[in-house]
Amino acid sequence: MNKGIVPATGKCQYCGQWKTVMIGEDKEYTQAELDQIATSECDCAGAKQAQEIEVMIRKGHRLVKHYLGKTYPESERIMDAAIEPIFRGTDGITKVVIKAGIHTITLQKAIESVGLKVQETRESNANSEDEEDVEEE
Ligand SMILES: [Zn+2]
Repeated sequence: MNKGIVPATGKCQYCGQWKTVMIGEDKEYTQAELDQIATSECDCAGAKQAQEIEVMIRKGHRLVKHYLGKTYPESERIMDAAIEPIFRGTDGITKVVIKAGIHTITLQKAIESVGLKVQETRESNANSEDEEDVEEE
């Protein structure tokens, strides 16, 4: 039995195509929410690109939590807040660098990936041996 799932229509915000989306009938959806669901399920170029950005944002949150959560909670908070602007291109932000303790933490949008780098800060040598490159595709 398919309980409480009903069809509704939402419009893709990129190609403008109306699509049937399945929603739970126990919740009220606004047209904007229905459009959002339709967009997330559409396979036009614009929607696909937007879906990829969402995937990167989720990966970014996961990486930041994993690599900074225990050592640098405040840096984690700042980097976490920087993920969405970086991947959505807000204000043209492409990279955020934090110097925290003995480490330099860099978060940037790499080609099709999330670039999070935790490097030991050296006075005279920028190329650290203890570089921990945690880029994820
Ligand atoms: Zn579309």
